[in-house]
Amino acid sequence: MSTNAVDAGSVSKQEPPRPSNFIRDIILDDLKTGKYGGRVHTRFPPEPNGYLHIGHAKSICLNFGLAQEFGGKCNLRFDDTNPCKEETEYVESIMEDVRWLGFDWEDRLFYASDYFDQLYEWAIQLIKAGKAYVCDLTAEQIRQYRGTPTEPGKESPYRNRSVEENLDLFERMRKGEFPDGSRTLRSKIDMASPNFNMRDPVMYRILHADHHRTGSKWCIYPMYDFTHGESDSIEGITHSICTLEFEDHRPLYDWYVEQLGIHHPQQIEFDRLNLTNTVLSKRKLLQLVEQGHVAGWDDPRMPTLSGIRRRGYSPEAIRNFCGRIGVSKTNGIIEYSLLEHCLREDLNLRSARVMAVVDPIRVVIENYPDDLVEEMDAVNNPEDPAAGTRKAPFSKVIYIEREDFRENPPKQYYRLSPGREVRLRYAYLITCTSVVKDPATGEVVEVRCTYDPATRGGNAPDGRKVKSTIHWVSAAHGLDFEARLYNELFLPDDKATEDEENDTRDFTARLNPNSLEVKQGKIEPSVQTAAPLTRYQFERVGYFCVDKDSTPEKLIFNRTVGLKDTWAKLEKKSG
Ligand code: ATP
Ligand code: MG
Repeated sequence: MSTNAVDAGSVSKQEPPRPSNFIRDIILDDLKTGKYGGRVHTRFPPEPNGYLHIGHAKSICLNFGLAQEFGGKCNLRFDDTNPCKEETEYVESIMEDVRWLGFDWEDRLFYASDYFDQLYEWAIQLIKAGKAYVCDLTAEQIRQYRGTPTEPGKESPYRNRSVEENLDLFERMRKGEFPDGSRTLRSKIDMASPNFNMRDPVMYRILHADHHRTGSKWCIYPMYDFTHGESDSIEGITHSICTLEFEDHRPLYDWYVEQLGIHHPQQIEFDRLNLTNTVLSKRKLLQLVEQGHVAGWDDPRMPTLSGIRRRGYSPEAIRNFCGRIGVSKTNGIIEYSLLEHCLREDLNLRSARVMAVVDPIRVVIENYPDDLVEEMDAVNNPEDPAAGTRKAPFSKVIYIEREDFRENPPKQYYRLSPGREVRLRYAYLITCTSVVKDPATGEVVEVRCTYDPATRGGNAPDGRKVKSTIHWVSAAHGLDFEARLYNELFLPDDKATEDEENDTRDFTARLNPNSLEVKQGKIEPSVQTAAPLTRYQFERVGYFCVDKDSTPEKLIFNRTVGLKDTWAKLEKKSG
């Protein structure tokens, strides 16, 4: 396995990221030579057969980003040539995702299906020029005639039909006189070409199927390869940026625009984004949804934009990530941890801190007055003084994290344990005096403590130090919430390659059975009316966001990403 992994640790905070971007260099050059009269016009061309994922974000950021950088334009175009797999639901989700990432196609929303009439005219033009013919071979026969990488293909027996016969047959194909698959329109190029794409590729196929936009108007549909380049040409695209697997298709796209004598965009290929330990093939993502391995396209474990949005990822973090990885001419695999690094960097700057206990254990402060409630000043965001402070209510009974207490602490465990004093964040120093156990199971169900009233705010007047500060939530004031703790959707895979599309192993066998843990927690009341998708840092626990299905009556929070946990590392090291 080769990886061109960018190591998260090596990304310096001081230097603004400026990774090499050879596409930018090509555009700069074209601007210098005036190749397109100083114009920069790109497009993002998804096929509406699935939801967008983080790989698409790379393409979106490139196309919209370069247009922005050079004062150009970027279109959104749906490459909707395949009536069977395309749905309006996908169109809508794609538009939502592009907007969410922060890009705007203004009035330039297009559909390849809008060009079906024009493409049909062009097909006739190529027939008249003797460059296209109707072929009666079946799909299987066409494959057999195609040859191999070392042997030339065989010419179709229908290749030399007269222009008149071709025009007549193509017209009758359009009228619906022939069944699906019985005939195709093919370009007449070169059956001996070393490039398979040039061996008389199919331009049109017969398919009696309704299309999400053109309805039943057509029963013949242009192939993607006959549509894509001409669509770019119609839209006046200057730089047609696409992924590396289309490099071999470029000569064909060039051939079509040259034969037709229309505007010639420059196609430039770049590397597809692959990420460690996830899948980015639409086919596989669809399978996860259809087989119920996840709760839908926007399941927060999915690498789809709708999934990671619901999980709490910010568009800023994604744009930053896409800028940092740059583009290259060889496919590799990027470490997922780099994406998380970019995410934490952004969330750290912008998310409000709150105290939430994900796995609560009750703590009673024996010498605290029964009815007293104190409002403790808590800092909303230490990275952003303008975010101010809030009041966190404190009382005699609180909850702390179960893992912040150990009856028998191991070495180097400095949190609460019998006889040990710790700081309650923003409140007091407390000392554990005893525990209450469930007589049946022996499990600790309550921790008893005393507090030092002289330490309000968390500091002792005599200057004594405590080694640990833990968070808490007042039992009388805290709200119940459901914490959805997400882990990797897949178990580690050391056999992953850069060519995910052709990895035929059963990827569902690697699904992580523990990708979702659900806990019932307690959270401070300040979050009660937070809007869905509001992002927080739960102090000491991780970054969380309000789930889209959360309500003030039933709060649900998704864990976006954990904080770096030095204790866990230490624990691992010391075994
Ligand atoms: P399909 O197999 O259905 O064609 P696709 O992933 O190529 O799947 P498209 O809808 O064709 O999906 O993609 C739209 C654009 O996004 C294309 O220009 C494609 O090159 C780009 N793109 C798709 N996946 C990635 C990826 N992993 N990294 C970078 N760009 C991508
Ligand atoms: Mg594609």
